[in-house]
Amino acid sequence: MYERSIKDPAGFWSEIADAFYWKEKWNPSEVCSENLDVSKGPVHISWFKGGKTNICYNAVDRNIEAGNGDKIAMYWEGNEPGQDGKLTYSELREKVCQLANYLKSVGVGKGDAVVIYLPMLLELPIAMLACARIGAVHSVVFAGFSADSLAQRIVDCKPKLVLTCNAVKRGPKPILLKDIVDAALVESEKNGFSVGICLTYENQSVMKRQDTKWQAGRDVWWQDVVTNFPTKCDVEWVDAEDPLFLLYTSGSTGKPKGVMHTSGGYMVYTATTFKYAFDYKPTDIYWCTADCGWITGHSYVTYGPLLNGAAVLVFEGTPNYPDAGRCWDIVDKYKVSIFYTAPTLVRSLMRDGNEYVTRYSRKSLRVLGSVGEPINPSAWRWFYNVVGDSKCPISDTWWQTETGGFMMTPLPGAWPQKPGSATFPFFGVQPVIVDEKGQEIEGECSGYLCIKKSWPGAFRTLYGDHDRYETTYFKPFAGYYFTGDGCSRDKDGYHWLTGRVDDVINVSGHRIGTAEVESALVSHPQCAEAAVVGVEHEVKGQGIYAFVTLVDGVPYSEELRKSLISKVRTQIGAFAAPDRIHWAPGLPKTRSGKIMRRILRKIAAKQLDELGDISTLADPGVVDQLIALKDC
Ligand code: ATP
Ligand code: MG
Repeated sequence: MYERSIKDPAGFWSEIADAFYWKEKWNPSEVCSENLDVSKGPVHISWFKGGKTNICYNAVDRNIEAGNGDKIAMYWEGNEPGQDGKLTYSELREKVCQLANYLKSVGVGKGDAVVIYLPMLLELPIAMLACARIGAVHSVVFAGFSADSLAQRIVDCKPKLVLTCNAVKRGPKPILLKDIVDAALVESEKNGFSVGICLTYENQSVMKRQDTKWQAGRDVWWQDVVTNFPTKCDVEWVDAEDPLFLLYTSGSTGKPKGVMHTSGGYMVYTATTFKYAFDYKPTDIYWCTADCGWITGHSYVTYGPLLNGAAVLVFEGTPNYPDAGRCWDIVDKYKVSIFYTAPTLVRSLMRDGNEYVTRYSRKSLRVLGSVGEPINPSAWRWFYNVVGDSKCPISDTWWQTETGGFMMTPLPGAWPQKPGSATFPFFGVQPVIVDEKGQEIEGECSGYLCIKKSWPGAFRTLYGDHDRYETTYFKPFAGYYFTGDGCSRDKDGYHWLTGRVDDVINVSGHRIGTAEVESALVSHPQCAEAAVVGVEHEVKGQGIYAFVTLVDGVPYSEELRKSLISKVRTQIGAFAAPDRIHWAPGLPKTRSGKIMRRILRKIAAKQLDELGDISTLADPGVVDQLIALKDC
């Protein structure tokens, strides 16, 4: 299949696209048209041009028409154990239609933006689907972002309406979302944009409406209006290239980028990647722990699985509440067969010990998945051996907000796995490793990861800034999409992501990826997590500075410092040995759980007044803790 997808991409993807419902078929001569080469004019990518379809119709109605209306589309597990719910495909359609009808009634139509700031209630995917049904463009903002971050995104995409809920509990802590939205709306007004309607879901188990701050005229209770609308709503047929959503990247490397995806190609790509990368079967119960505020929640909580008619579990809570066994309790409760999560979660559960896992049967698990960062081989092994009882293949899926769907991933069972490698490209994807000059390097090598040719799920622009799109992704290496990641290929052709190229450390001429050193540190039994950055070094050019979080209860000691350094020495070589270990009670992470090395670089260099934007950090307090510990 891979060979065919490269030799005849138009034929390959057309056959797959044929299985979806298209109101009008695409122009057969324009399955794919693209220019990735800035020297030949503006960069553009299109797939299935002229085709008319609707992703909501395909994800919901098509399953009902195939006789699966009574199948569960979504299970919901709340923050508190015992709090749950579910929706069949028919019920899901009714909810989606009611909201779509409401949106239409207040003048939201094709091409209008809608900002969604909701926690993981079923109302979140429902809201995404309702927008898609009427051709509106959703922009989901992770409901952990601050008022300023939310305001920034609102001002950027100018929504007709903002959707939120009054409050939510995350673990034991109630969070007053509506207050954050209120502050964001004041802030965006100051910046010249005012939002007309704030549709607010009353999350009754957490907060009653009488306790919620309210601005009459602007604020509307979801439960007061939406439920009055009919449960049927006609579909707006959109062009394959009409925008489906805007989503800002996690901001690991700087100011978030407003990534725009379109309808047709994204639909075909997310559905197909989901099906093959997880070896999906109709009897599966699928759980992805990502929030819909990230691309993973777009492509692999909402669209990809529903397009396959899957039963999806949506989890509102956090993985360590009430205790570190929560995930496995949920796996047993719903008989989850496919479990997809992030290395940061795997590492944190590994630190909490095996007993929390082995207490539960996990018999239903069949396939595991990982996304977000390179997974350290030791975390991979723990995930495989302890969580998966050495019987579940792990799909280590490498991809990006920009790529819409998986770019490299194992196909479970299809070839031998190597812990920590994302293995091989998905159908239609042609990864190349290039050197500084943009020359492709063959065979065993290491360099900059680029993609040759487009694929259906590729993003089409950065919203309102096509220049930045070209400059960031297509100018660095002419003719290629540049991923920003470093990668090496081993003698068997397996791919190993080495981290972001901006983070590569050059020690006495050796180029060292952050992932490699971190994995060596994490393989030390007393190290829970590690992040390395480069610092200026008189002799070596750059030295390695490692931030290390220890397993709970392990005290800092000189002996341990030495043993960590020697671990790197023996696993990689003396040239990669950290010059400095900085004990870290916690690491600065984005709200999607990724380590933000640019902040660590500043701390290591003692440039404390140049920390830059730390608003996308999950816990900005970590930064102060690290600074306070600088002399350990
Ligand atoms: P920003 O672009 O704003 O800095 P970000 O790159 O973290 O943020 P995302 O699109 O959410 O935003 O993340 C994509 C990046 O995550 C990839 O470029 C890669 O660095 C990393 N990544 C994702 N999955 C994997 C994986 N399986 N293995 C290695 N790295 C991964
Ligand atoms: Mg990125």
